[in-house]
Amino acid sequence: MFITTEPCQYCSKQQVEAPWTLCQDCRRTYAKTLHQLHRNMQLLQRVAHHEYKLTDPGNGGKPKGGEAPSPVNMHAIDLLDEAESLLQDAWYDAGFVWSDKWQRLIPRMQTHLAWLCRARNAGRFLRQLIRMSRRIEPYVDRRPRTRRIIGVCPECGREIQAAKNETLRLCKCGNPINVAELREQSRDKAEAIHLTKTPAGMSQWLRENYGYEVSRKTITDALRRGKLPSSKPIEDGYWEFNIREIVAFAVSKTRH
Ligand SMILES: [Zn+2]
Ligand SMILES: [Zn+2]
Repeated sequence: MFITTEPCQYCSKQQVEAPWTLCQDCRRTYAKTLHQLHRNMQLLQRVAHHEYKLTDPGNGGKPKGGEAPSPVNMHAIDLLDEAESLLQDAWYDAGFVWSDKWQRLIPRMQTHLAWLCRARNAGRFLRQLIRMSRRIEPYVDRRPRTRRIIGVCPECGREIQAAKNETLRLCKCGNPINVAELREQSRDKAEAIHLTKTPAGMSQWLRENYGYEVSRKTITDALRRGKLPSSKPIEDGYWEFNIREIVAFAVSKTRH
């Protein structure tokens, strides 16, 4: 018996037997994509309804009842519509003639995955669904990020924190901060940056900003023994710490 095989429409690497149009790996990818897209769309819907905020607490951005929807909410609604049309098109392409709202359609697609993976344009739709899920992601991504101090705002002098992949941060004074640029500048200026804190405050600062565990007592002892020569006492238990010195000290203490 002659079995026709064609390259998988999505990866083009595997040969697939009719009536499949996607290989086994890509069928799994399709299932995963539907799952992720469903979750992302549910979160995006909550964004649209103001139930889910992306801003960090304390950053403002609180929704105010009775006001016109903000641009982000309008955009969320548009994006949901667009995603729903795409899902319906993928569904029609698999030969179905009726459709539904995305909330009911996606679960149905998940139980009819085999049909979807035999659809005439399965590869193209899988590609578009993956892209759609990625487009939604930035609106619903609220993973807690570990932010480290990268320097101080050139406008107001406040400490600026940024996570690894962030390229732009807004200082509390409103000044937009180019993260890469500030990192670069701070590297040169690190020596000149001082922080006024108590030893307990410094211990907390090191833990929060660098993840180093150095106790208040360790810092007090080091100050008393002159192990931090660039740090100067101010008053009321406050010290002016040299950031580079104290960070180097913290590194030496946590290596043991
Ligand atoms: Zn494939
Ligand atoms: Zn500022």
